[in-house]
Amino acid sequence: MNLDNKLKLKLAERKADHLYRQRRIMDSPQGVEVVVDGKPYINFCSNDYLGLANEPVVNKAFKQGIDQYGSGSGAAHLVTGHSTAHHALEEELAEFVQRPRALLFSTGYMANLGVVSALTERHDTVVADKLNHASLIDAAQLSRASMERFAHADMNALESLLAKHDKGNKLVVSDGVFSMDGDIAPVKQMARLSETYDAILMIDDAHGLGVLGEHGRGTLEQLNLGINEVPILVGTLGKAFATFGAFVAGSEELIETLIQGARSYVYTTALPPAVAEATRASLQCVIKDDWRREQLHRLIQQFKQGAHELGLPLMQSDTAIQPLLIGSSDKALEISEYLRTQGLLISAIRPPTVPKGTARLRITLSAIHRPRHVDLMLDALQNCKLDQVS
Ligand SMILES: *Cc1c(COP(=O)(O)O)cnc(C)c1O
Repeated sequence: MNLDNKLKLKLAERKADHLYRQRRIMDSPQGVEVVVDGKPYINFCSNDYLGLANEPVVNKAFKQGIDQYGSGSGAAHLVTGHSTAHHALEEELAEFVQRPRALLFSTGYMANLGVVSALTERHDTVVADKLNHASLIDAAQLSRASMERFAHADMNALESLLAKHDKGNKLVVSDGVFSMDGDIAPVKQMARLSETYDAILMIDDAHGLGVLGEHGRGTLEQLNLGINEVPILVGTLGKAFATFGAFVAGSEELIETLIQGARSYVYTTALPPAVAEATRASLQCVIKDDWRREQLHRLIQQFKQGAHELGLPLMQSDTAIQPLLIGSSDKALEISEYLRTQGLLISAIRPPTVPKGTARLRITLSAIHRPRHVDLMLDALQNCKLDQVS
């Protein structure tokens, strides 16, 4: 059989399992009211939690960045790609998360690959929550270390794994806010166990930064944890910061080690400097616009209250990610399609992104939603008879 015929069979299988994925074409900027495939929708599936993806102040900084630095960085950071803009952003991010240093990466995916590979060797062990983001799982697989996974947020299981591995270094890795569930990791307990068993703790706070904590410093601020408890913090810039890229924050020694040896840092082109300039502007919005976090948390409460009253299958989440657990992939897809006919974009998340039998609607809220948007969504969900599924 030739390649295309083989692929055709695989693709048909995927379709039959309701797991086929299709891209939609956005005809408008990212936001709450978007145009997709030529039709208007209210959007409940972006990660633009603070509504900064089309913020004029950020857009303006992006344009000025191009005027000042041109469009491309032209090289890797270690060659001639590291500009004043990148450097300033690193210093400002480090200050924001209250750590000595921060290092920019081109994506969060690459930051995770780079950190785990640079910090582990053969005979080391990466200990990971089963619901960690795919990039953390791939990071462990790409490294020479072995990987052990514990049941989601199960601290007894984590402890047994840490106790079992007494040879080599141990790196405990977890999402801060779980990307498909919205719950916050038990980082305090992880930190305590990591200390007891001499392991290093790394938290990927892609969905907590900007959103959680009084100043938007994320999960660690909310839980009152610092660099001593969590030496490695990863943040992404494509979510609440609403531009593109990622960073790792930690000690001088950590950052210098990554500059020397993180392959996904060394062997790749630096972000365009204008992206760094745009991110410096969005960081200022994250720092100064408390109203965005306040509005977001009001909307989260409104949604949870309304969904609770309707008996919808809410999950344990107080964050901007508010999934409704459906179960089967075909049902989740069917509901998502129905909502689309009602002018609402809510994505159906299916395996392998989530475990089998736990397909869900992943609703995300943004600071620039209006209370009436949430009401409209709740009304539409009421028609779906979700209290009768799963
Ligand atoms: C989105 C995400 C990433 C990947 O970040 P990108 O910059 O989009 O590559 C990594 N970790 C978590 C937890 C994420 O949600």
